[in-house]
Amino acid sequence: MCRSCNASPGDEARGSGLTRRGLMALVGGLTVGGASVTDAVAGLLSGHRVRAVADAQPLPAVSQPTIVGCDQWQAREPSSPVKVLQNRPVRILVHHTATENRNDDTESQLATLAKSIQDFHMDRNGWIDSGHHFLVNRAGLIAEGRHKSLESLLGGQKFIEGAHCPDQNDTAIGIENQGLYTKADPPGGMLSGLRALCAYACLQYGIDPEQLYGHRDYRDTDCPGDKLYALLPWLRNQVGRMMGRGTEWRAATLATWPLVRPADQGPVVLAAQHLLRNAGVSTVPADGMFGQATSDGVRTFQQAHGLELTGMIAGGSWPLLAVEVRAGQGGEAEAAVQALLARQGAEAVTAPPVVRKEDWQRLLAS
Ligand SMILES: [Zn+2]
Repeated sequence: MCRSCNASPGDEARGSGLTRRGLMALVGGLTVGGASVTDAVAGLLSGHRVRAVADAQPLPAVSQPTIVGCDQWQAREPSSPVKVLQNRPVRILVHHTATENRNDDTESQLATLAKSIQDFHMDRNGWIDSGHHFLVNRAGLIAEGRHKSLESLLGGQKFIEGAHCPDQNDTAIGIENQGLYTKADPPGGMLSGLRALCAYACLQYGIDPEQLYGHRDYRDTDCPGDKLYALLPWLRNQVGRMMGRGTEWRAATLATWPLVRPADQGPVVLAAQHLLRNAGVSTVPADGMFGQATSDGVRTFQQAHGLELTGMIAGGSWPLLAVEVRAGQGGEAEAAVQALLARQGAEAVTAPPVVRKEDWQRLLAS
C-alpha cells in the first residue's frame, strides 16, 4: 500500500503547469517524425501519439541517474533498522503519490516532498521508514525512499524490504511518482526520470524490462492512475531498447487483471458479480452494474481475504475470485464465464473445457 491508497479525491484538480515544460524537456527540441515539436507535445499531452514521439527520439544510453540520498534530503532515521535482503528484486512496481500535480523542479522541493511522504508513512501508516524505494518528482528529479535503497541499487546484489505493496515488498522495487494521474497526463520530465531510473535498476539487478508493472496489477487499487498506467507498455519498450534489445523491440503483452470499479458496467462487471456470489457474497446483484451493493460486496470479500477495503477489483481480488471452472459444472462461476463469452464478438472468443488463470485473463481482456 502506498500513499496513493489514502489519497483524497480532488487532489488532481490543482495545476499541471509543468506538463508542457516537462514535455519540452523530454522531446528535447527535436523535430519528431516530420511533425513539429508543438504537434508532438500536443499529441503527447492528449495521449495519442506517445509511441510515435518516443520512437522517433534517439534513446539515451543506460547510465547511473542522479539520485538524492536520504542523508542529502535529511530523512528521519528509520524507527527500527531496515531489512537488508540477500536477493535481487525481480520486478518494478510503478505508483503515483496522489499528491497535487505541483510544479516542483528544485532539489529543495524534492526534499520537502520526500519528507512529507516519509512522515505520512511513518506517523500515519506506522511504517519504519518510507514505504517506497525511490521517488521521482514531476521534473524528473529522483530521491531515495527507504534508507539503504540507493546503496543496494549501486551494489546490484542486495535489496531492501519495502512497504509499498503487500506480497511484493521483498521482490519488487517500488517507485513513487509525484502527482495524481487518474485524469492528468504525466509530464515528460517525470517520464524521462522514471525511464532513466527503471533502465538503471534493470541493468544493475538484471531485471527483465518486461517486468515493469503498476501497483494495480497486484492489489485492488487504481494506482498509478489510468494515464500513467497506460504508459507502462511504452516504458517497457523504451527500457528494453535502452538495454540493447534493438530499436524495433516490443515487450510482450502482459497478462494482467482488469480494474473494475464503481460506475463501471458491462460483461466484466457481470462476471465479477457472479464470481463474488460464487465466493459466498450473496448480497451482490448480477446485473452488470457496479453500484453500491457491488462495491459493498467487494469490501466484504476483501475483508474476508485480508485485503485493503477499496471496493474495487484489480490485482488483489481477481486471482482469488477467478477460480478454476469446468465446462458444464453450472452455478455462479460458470455463469461468469458465460457472461464473458456472451458479449460482443462472442464467436471469436472461446473457453477451454477447464478455465484456469490464464484463460480468465484472456477472457477478461478480450
Ligand atoms: Zn501505489
